[in-house]
Amino acid sequence: MVLTRNYKFRLYPNVIQEKKLQNNLAVCRWIYNHFVDLTQNGFITRNDCNYILTEIKQQESWLYQYHSKMLQSVSAQINGAQKALIEKSKQRHKTGSLRFCKYHDYRTFTYSQSGFKLERKGTTDLLYLSKIGDMEIRHHREIPYNANIKQVIVTKSKSGKWFACVTVDITEPLIGIPKISFKNSVGIDVGIKSFVHDSNGFQTPNPKNLQKMLKPLKRIQRKVSRRKKGSNNRLKAVLHMQRIHEKIANMRKDFQHKISTQYAKNNDVVFVEKLQLTNMVKNHRLAQSIADASWGAFIQKLEYKCKMLVKVDPRNTTIDCSRCGNKVPKSLAVRTHRCNVCNLVLDRDHNASLNILNRGLNMSTGVDYKLPQELREVTLAESAMHSMKQEEATQLVGW
Ligand SMILES: [Zn+2]
Repeated sequence: MVLTRNYKFRLYPNVIQEKKLQNNLAVCRWIYNHFVDLTQNGFITRNDCNYILTEIKQQESWLYQYHSKMLQSVSAQINGAQKALIEKSKQRHKTGSLRFCKYHDYRTFTYSQSGFKLERKGTTDLLYLSKIGDMEIRHHREIPYNANIKQVIVTKSKSGKWFACVTVDITEPLIGIPKISFKNSVGIDVGIKSFVHDSNGFQTPNPKNLQKMLKPLKRIQRKVSRRKKGSNNRLKAVLHMQRIHEKIANMRKDFQHKISTQYAKNNDVVFVEKLQLTNMVKNHRLAQSIADASWGAFIQKLEYKCKMLVKVDPRNTTIDCSRCGNKVPKSLAVRTHRCNVCNLVLDRDHNASLNILNRGLNMSTGVDYKLPQELREVTLAESAMHSMKQEEATQLVGW
C-alpha cells in the first residue's frame, strides 16, 4: 500500500535566495496570467499550455534561467483552475471567466519530479532547489526512511515567511480494512460555549483565540490605517498585522488538531451534526465567535483522522429529549435541558450530543447508510448491544 503524505517545513533562505524565490513567483505569475488571457477564448488543455510555453521560451530566452518543471507546473495549475470553474458552473454557481492573479495573491510555486533534494550538512538540514541552491530548512519532524519525494511546493505566507511543502510516497505493508466497533463510538456536539461536548460528558471550552488576540489586532489595525498609503512604514505595519493573523490561525489549528487527534485515537466511530454554517454566520451577533470557532475545519480534520465519521441530520438535536424523545424547546440562553415527561435534567450540549449519538447509531443499522457488507454484519449485532449500554448510561447521568 502506498500512502501519500505532506510535510510542511519552514524555510530560511538568505537574502540572495529570497530574491530568487521572489523572482520565481513573479515569473510563474506572469505565465499564469498569460494563460488566463488565452482561456478567455475557450478551454486550453495542458498539452496546449506546454506547447505555448515552449514557444514563449524560444522568444524569451531569459526564461531558461528558471527550472523548466516549475514553469510546466503552471500549465497543470491553469488546467485545474479551468476544471474547477466548469465544475462550479455545473453545480449552478454563477461563474465568470478565470481572473488574473495580483502580485500579492500569487504566493506558491511547485517543483515536481525533479530539481530538488533534501540534504544534511553537519547539524543543519538543507533543501536544494535547482537554480536557487541550498537553503536552510527546519525539519521539525522526521520524514520516514523509505519515503520517495514526489514534489516540493514552496509557499510564501502573507507575513513573508517561506515554507516548503514536501509530498512523499511511503510504501507500507497492507494492513487490511480497519476493524470498526460501534461499541466504541461517540457523539459530538459543537457549540459556542464549549467548543465540543461529547456523549461521554466531556467538554472542551472554546479557546476564543480571536477574542484573546483582539486587542493587539485592533491596535495594529489602527496603526495601519494611520500610516500613509504606499509608505514603507505602512508596509511594515501591514506585515506585523499579517503575523498576528497567522498566529491566530496557528493557535486555532493547533487546538483543533489536538482535540481531533484525541477523538480519533479513542473512538472507532465519531458522529457529528451536518453543519449548516451559512445560516449561522448570517446571525450577526454570533457571527464573529462562530467564524472564530471554525467547526467546519475541525470536522474536516476529524474526517481524515477517524476510522469512520458519520454526519447526522441536525434537526431538533437540541430540542429532543435524549431519553424519551419529548420535545423541549429552548432559546439559546437556556443552558440546561429539563424534560417534564421523564425528569431528565442534563446540560443542553450534553443532551444534544447524546441525540447525535443515538441518531448516528440508528442510521448505521438502517438501510440508508452504506457500509461494506462484511462490516455491516458485525455492526448490526454490536450496535444493538451499544444502544442498550447507552440507555443505562443516560439514566446514570440523568439522576
Ligand atoms: Zn424526557
